[in-house]
Amino acid sequence: MNSPVRAMRAVGLDEPLFVGRGEGAYLEDVDGNRYLDWVMSWGPLIFGHADLETVAAVRDAAERGTSFGAPTEAEVELAAEIVDAVPSVEKVRLVSSGTEAAMSAARLARAFTARDRILKFAGCYHGHVDALLAGAGSGVATLGLPSSPGVPPATTKDTIVCKFNDVDAVASTVAEYGEGLAAIIVEPVAGNMGVVPPEPGFLEALRRLCDASGALLVFDEVITGFRVARGGAQELFDVMPDLTILGKIVGGGLPLAAFGGRAEIMDRLAPSGDVYQAGTLSGNPLATAAGLAVLRRLGDPSVYEQLEQRGARLESGLAPHGRVQRVGAMATLFMTDEPVRNFDDAQRADTDRYGALFRHLLDRGIYLAPSQFEGMFVSLAHGDEEIDRTIQAIADFG
Ligand SMILES: *Cc1c(COP(=O)(O)O)cnc(C)c1O
Repeated sequence: MNSPVRAMRAVGLDEPLFVGRGEGAYLEDVDGNRYLDWVMSWGPLIFGHADLETVAAVRDAAERGTSFGAPTEAEVELAAEIVDAVPSVEKVRLVSSGTEAAMSAARLARAFTARDRILKFAGCYHGHVDALLAGAGSGVATLGLPSSPGVPPATTKDTIVCKFNDVDAVASTVAEYGEGLAAIIVEPVAGNMGVVPPEPGFLEALRRLCDASGALLVFDEVITGFRVARGGAQELFDVMPDLTILGKIVGGGLPLAAFGGRAEIMDRLAPSGDVYQAGTLSGNPLATAAGLAVLRRLGDPSVYEQLEQRGARLESGLAPHGRVQRVGAMATLFMTDEPVRNFDDAQRADTDRYGALFRHLLDRGIYLAPSQFEGMFVSLAHGDEEIDRTIQAIADFG
């Protein structure tokens, strides 16, 4: 496989399923078995698999050429959709993966502030960027690797890791390192240690500490962007970062991601500024077509009302069977009775029990994320029938 989270070792299986096709909320593996899918490519597919409008837009674009290495109108249109949707974003650059977006945002924040240190949170994942691969959630946590070989200590020496939801720890870190701090980077709703919402006041405190120290606040909204609200977690919680990282939904299921923010910061990027960042396939025509086909339908408020209703139905059905944590259309059923506020709490969940639940559901044609430290991603293709069948199967597990 080409990404370790797809392996099923963490849930006690030797081989992952190999997918043949998908439609709506369902997957079919190469042996013809059908599964109700709660992974949804780890979040991008807000309208489900093989969404007709997305497929048509990609096919149309492909007929006109798959890559030019020169600007196209669709890139400008997608940028305009992003700027319109995400409150703090005035200018945006398109890239091909969330990792690339996070790496570039970190470079830009360091250049803009002329500082080196970055504060991140244990269990938050920002792609496999060397400097941010310290205390990173899901894949790394699932594999039990404290960090990764191949990342030189010099690369992470300016990365400071704090506990999520721990304002005091951040405040004392800022007091100690504030002058050299380029950025605080955070998943505003953590999704890579399982779903962990920010406690009231946490994001506001980060904003205040950044303002006081001159560091930039960077929201990694790769999962939350266009999911918890059209404008992401910053809209939902009304806290504005300086830079925002987007991915997953923004590309409509094709390889596309973005970073954006205040114009004054974004103007530092080449060619208008001196911070180098580039990509042969950045703003790729197929990916921008898919992104536009999705984003243009998200302006209708009923999309988020429906996602909330479906998420709430799932949450109330799962509540008797563990600790459910949910924000909008992302939820985790933790195998614990205790609240999960941070990565330490998440690691106290019973992962063996989660593995047994995963296998029980897979036998019944329901595909959960093959790790306790991930979310269930509700899409508009998940109707009451899909939600209720999942709840019933989890209740049968006992
Ligand atoms: C998935 C993810 C990334 C990395 O995106 P890729 O496209 O896989 O490189 C970064 N940040 C968060 C919050 C993510 O969930």
